[in-house]
Amino acid sequence: MTSQPDVDVAILGGGIAGLWLLARLKRAGYSALLLESQALGAGQTLASQGIIHGGLKYAIDLRLNADSAALADMPARWRTCLDGRGEIDLRAAKLAAARHLFWARRTLTSRIAGFFGSKLVRGRVDALPQNQWPGVLQDADHVGAVYALDECVLDVPSLLGALAALGEGCIKAGQAAVEQQDDHVLLQVAGRSLTAGTLVSTAGAGNEVLLPQLGLAPQVAQRRPLQMLLIESAPGPLWAHCFDTSDKPRVTITTHKKNDGTLVWYVGGLLAENGVTQSEAALIATARQEFTTLLPQLDFSRSRFAGCRVDRAEGATEDGRKPEGPVLKRVGNIMLAWPTKLALAPQLADLVLAALPPASGRVQPVFADWSAPPIAPAPWEVAAWK
Ligand code: FAD
Repeated sequence: MTSQPDVDVAILGGGIAGLWLLARLKRAGYSALLLESQALGAGQTLASQGIIHGGLKYAIDLRLNADSAALADMPARWRTCLDGRGEIDLRAAKLAAARHLFWARRTLTSRIAGFFGSKLVRGRVDALPQNQWPGVLQDADHVGAVYALDECVLDVPSLLGALAALGEGCIKAGQAAVEQQDDHVLLQVAGRSLTAGTLVSTAGAGNEVLLPQLGLAPQVAQRRPLQMLLIESAPGPLWAHCFDTSDKPRVTITTHKKNDGTLVWYVGGLLAENGVTQSEAALIATARQEFTTLLPQLDFSRSRFAGCRVDRAEGATEDGRKPEGPVLKRVGNIMLAWPTKLALAPQLADLVLAALPPASGRVQPVFADWSAPPIAPAPWEVAAWK
């Protein structure tokens, strides 16, 4: 190809990774177009709990490991964006909770207190006096201690709205057939062609489709499934991990407001990992038992429940566990990218920008007559309640 490509960068996938990258590219002067095949956030992003982890969850085996190191700077980096002082302006995104909590069962209190009191995590955790515990944790006999982490929780639908506004004009609905050429990538979308200097696929599970075309083995990508639990008409707001004897949270609860104002608890942690092999009915029965054990003072008699199956789609690791950070695979002018965590989208964008050739400086409208994709509904808006 002798002429310049239509855009410097084409992005496939409008989850957090693609949208964050698009905002960074625009700021850096690249011409870019993002194509979304369904709706923004439709994959994992709207199914996420929105926690901007700083890695403390992964350090609960009482050492700061590589997982926690990768995440340590993320809360501060996101906060500067939420304040409008960061690399992108996220002032239009809403916080669901300023601090995520960590509640330790009475049996664990001394081990956890030792860790949270240690120099390793000083400044990142506060032990809360009981009069500052959330209402739903008051009067629970088994709650030994509650800590507030230096990690905020985002309202993901509003985050997507903020990012869609930053990318306005450069986000289009469509699915492309991809052809790699020597000096550009050809995308064919609904009978039209687009050329890009570089293609970055941030399509989550959709990245797997490109593996054979790029000569990459299927083992380059992995999925880790979950069956999350939803509780409608939840007893009150709570954003917290509950830790017991495992180094993984027994439950991780985030609270979301449905469009009709009803409060929903969205529950992950070991409950959701173990829920993968259960039917939805069995997950709900296990959850009822779990909450009777953990928070017996709460009344769920008017609540309705639902399961939500969703895969975490990632770059692969040898042992199938979570990668320590974002993963970028590059084959010539095509990159496959997985952030690993919503919180790590800024780091993934750093990796992509470092691997790109300089911006051409040419900005021209492409596919200007095409419509933008909508934002997908959150899982709690479409759940089949039982
Ligand atoms: P996705 O969000 O999956 O987006 C991919 C997009 O690509 C989708 O919109 C899809 O429709 C589109 N697409 C697919 N194929 C194509 C194609 N061919 N062309 C165009 N578009 C295409 N991380 C955290 O940091 N904090 C949390 O609290 C958290 N909670 C989580 C809870 C759950 C239940 C899950 C599953 C994950 C959670 N994560 C969390 C991880 C986080 O959600 C993911 O790491 C992140 O959302 C991945 O974003 P992504 O943009 O790479 O992929």
